[in-house]
Parts: sequence; C-alpha cells; structure tokens
Amino acid sequence: MSGYAESLMQDVKAKNPAEPEFHQAVEEVAESLERVLERHPEYRSAKILERIIEPERVILFRVPWVDDRGEVQINKGFRIEMNSAIGPYKGGLRFHPSVNLGILKFLAFEQVFKNSLTTLPMGGGKGGSDFDPKGKSDREVMRFCQAFMQELFRHIGPNTDVPAGDIGVGGREIGYMFGQYKKLANEFTGVLTGKDLNWGGSRIRPEATGYGAVYFAAEMLSTRGESLEGRTCLVSGSGNVAQYTCEKILELGGKPVTLSDSSGYIYDEAGIDTEKLGYVMDLKNVRRGRIKEYAAQYKSAMYTETDASLDYNPLWNHKAHCAFPSATQNEINDKDAQNLLDNGVYVVSEGANMPTTPEGVRLFVENKILYGPGKAANAGGVAVSGLEMAQNSMRYAWTREEVDNRLQLIMKDIHTACVHATERFETPGNYVDGANIAGFLKVADAMIDQGVV
Ligand code: NDP
Repeated sequence: MSGYAESLMQDVKAKNPAEPEFHQAVEEVAESLERVLERHPEYRSAKILERIIEPERVILFRVPWVDDRGEVQINKGFRIEMNSAIGPYKGGLRFHPSVNLGILKFLAFEQVFKNSLTTLPMGGGKGGSDFDPKGKSDREVMRFCQAFMQELFRHIGPNTDVPAGDIGVGGREIGYMFGQYKKLANEFTGVLTGKDLNWGGSRIRPEATGYGAVYFAAEMLSTRGESLEGRTCLVSGSGNVAQYTCEKILELGGKPVTLSDSSGYIYDEAGIDTEKLGYVMDLKNVRRGRIKEYAAQYKSAMYTETDASLDYNPLWNHKAHCAFPSATQNEINDKDAQNLLDNGVYVVSEGANMPTTPEGVRLFVENKILYGPGKAANAGGVAVSGLEMAQNSMRYAWTREEVDNRLQLIMKDIHTACVHATERFETPGNYVDGANIAGFLKVADAMIDQGVV
C-alpha cells in the first residue's frame, strides 16, 4: 500500500472502531484505486474517496414489537444512506442476528460501486435489523416488519431511498413492509423493490442475483473461449441467490453439486437437477426447513454438519470447475481458497457480498483464475431492482424475456466495463481492480460536478 492509502486506512480505523468488515471493504477499494488517484490528483484534492467512505446519513432506531406469547421484544433498526451522487439511495435490508453497524456500512459502501457499475441511476444504501426471522411465526414476522416500517417510512421514498431484500428479507417480508408503508404514507409507489408481480414487482427480480452471477461467470469463461456446459459447480447457501444460481447453471448445461445453510451442507455427486432444486425451493421458501432434509430425501447426497472448530469449510473441498459462494461475507478464507485451487476450481463468481477474505482474494488473483468479485458478479439483483423502479415509474410491466434480455446485457456491460478499466489502468485480468475502478470513476465525476455537499 502507498503512504496515501496507509494513512487513509489508519484514519478509517481510528474513526470507525470495531468495524472490521467495513475496514476490509474500504482497504480493498483503496488498494485498487492507488493508480487512479496517482493519475488523477483532482480526485485526491477534492477528497472524493474520503467523502465516499463517510455515509451521507446513518439512521438508527428502536423496533419494539410483541411476540406470540404477548412478550415485548426490542430489536435494533438501521438504514445507512451512503451516497446519492448518481441517484436515490438503493440497497437491501438484511434481517439476521449478526447485523450491526459495521456490517451494514461495509454493505452500503460496496453498494455504491456496484450500483454505479449497473449503468442505472442509483446511489448506494443498506439497512436492516438484528431480528432473526428463523423460527418466528408468520404473524411475528408481520408484526416485526410493521414495527420496522413504522419508523423507516419517514426516511425513504421512491425519489429518496428505495430499499430491497437481502439475507432474511424475501417476498414475504417485502410484502409486510410495503403494506405498512402504503398505509402510513397513504400512497402506492415503488418505494421498495422485490415486490410481488401482482402489486408492482418486476419479472425476473427474484431470479436476478443468481442468474446474474452465472451470466457473469459465463462472460468470464467466454474470454477463454469456454462455457459452463459440463462444468461442475460448488454453490453455498440455499436461499434466494443460491437457488437461482443453481437454476441458471442447470439451464446453461452445468452441474451444481452442493448447497448449504448455517447448520451444514449437502454434497450430491449425481448433481442437483431441476426436480431436486424444486424440492429445495419448497423446503426453503414454503416449509422453511433445513438443508439436512435434502440428504434424507435423496440418497445420492451426503450431509455434513457445520463444525465451528474447523479452520476451513469442507464444502469448498470437492473436485469442481466453478464456485458460486452465495451465503454470506468471509465464507471463503485462505485455506478454503487454496482447497478450491487444489481441487481444480478456476472460476469463482461471487453471488454473496464479500464472501472471500483478503488473503483468499490474493490467492485467486495471484493464481490468475477467473475471479468475479461480488460488486460486479452479483450486481444483477440491484440492476433488476433498478428496472423495477423504471417500470413502476411508467406504471407498466415488461415481459420475462424483456427483463431477462436487459439483465444479460447489463451483466455483459459490467464485464466489459471491468475489462476496460483493467486495460486502462494496466492491471490485466484483475476483475477486483476493474470493478472498483469502473464503479468509482462514475461516482467520483458526479461528486466533482455537484460540488462539496
Ligand atoms: P437468504 O436469506 O435468502 O439466504 C441466505 C443463505 O445463506 C441461507 O441458506 C442461510 O442459511 C445462509 N447463511 C446466511 N448467513 C450465514 C452464515 N453466517 N453462515 C452460514 N450460512 C449463512 O439471502 P440471499 O440469498 O438473498 O443472500 C445471500 C448473499 O447474497 C448475501 O451475502 C447477500 O448480501 C447477497 N446478495 C443478495 C442479493 C439479493 O438480491 N437477495 C443481491 C446481492 C447480493 P440459514 O438459513 O441457516 O441462515
């Protein structure tokens, strides 16, 4: 790291203590931008990166609600409005017990660059709560979502801040939050994305992140004249992103062999085919069960319980060509990265946000594999959210084919933008630098145009 990046990081750590994920996300970007800031002193003198690191606004609030036993529960609510240089704040809401300020700041920071890459006019934001929907009844989830929106509604709006889903926030939660927003604001607008088709949602939005991550992998493979046909793929998670990643891998002729949840993972050497994926979708989205049940249903599969005492994740230790981490941050450490390389994996397309630790990223980059960082590879979700906003503004709905074609085109354009940035700044094949640089330039120029605000 240069002296500039080093002193920037010292400052970030001093001003934002106990936020390791945020430090990690900023450090990666600061390293990628060194050569940009050297060539463009105007960005340094305008303190663009220093400004991007500081959220425009952080909203923290209490979320009190009553559970089924009549007991009062209190959760924390957050919304980070990170950057609005190129459009209204846009980014998901995460409901998970691990949620804290540092995690949401890392996600909001990444979102700024990701949204810029989509070519759509969206700023960056993120929010959520330490509420855990797991094991809660539908009525409890509804009461929580209503209580959460009771405060959030005054801060958001279709031209201000448009939240969406993330871990623990799917169609059910978006529905309850939208209902409460509509009641409080007395208006029917596109204030949330990920809505159901019947009331303003976009076709392909549920599929978009997973499909996009696979399209991005296909784009990377095409630079070597290859495709996903016949490729064995490791997928982690079993939620929204993982499910549609598997669906698109199957469509493009690949073979997904793993899925997981926080309790463990399944390895199905025969492949997770369309029928088995249908079982997983019902298990996870309707019955809200655990992935362990897959192994009881299909004898070709082996289930391995999560073992917190291990310093690696055995899911990443199987022979394969491609990996699609689709669960959560830092799920691939250096040991996992080495296991992936040793097992023949040469394509990693990140459906999850920051799923690889910096040491793991270093190994992928040094070994020159096709490594698509989350900012670029999982931007399809927010891209189709942007398309949902456009359709809401027009009060019109595009067909499935139309949205899917636009998604494919956007993923292709993101790939091209990354490659061009690596060529312009002489860091060939490094999609991490490509995504960070291409995402940064557009936001930085907009900030310069708009003055010190
Ligand atoms: P879901 O809640 O639908 O699924 C998350 C999956 O990951 C579940 O299988 C969950 O298991 C597992 N998981 C979550 N946290 C952990 C953990 N700490 N350890 C092990 N497993 C874990 O979320 P999504 O599929 O929407 O999101 C997955 C990833 O993709 C996240 O990183 C998210 O930020 C990212 N992403 C999502 C987008 C979207 O459109 N939804 C857009 C872009 C990125 P369990 O049920 O046991 O918790």
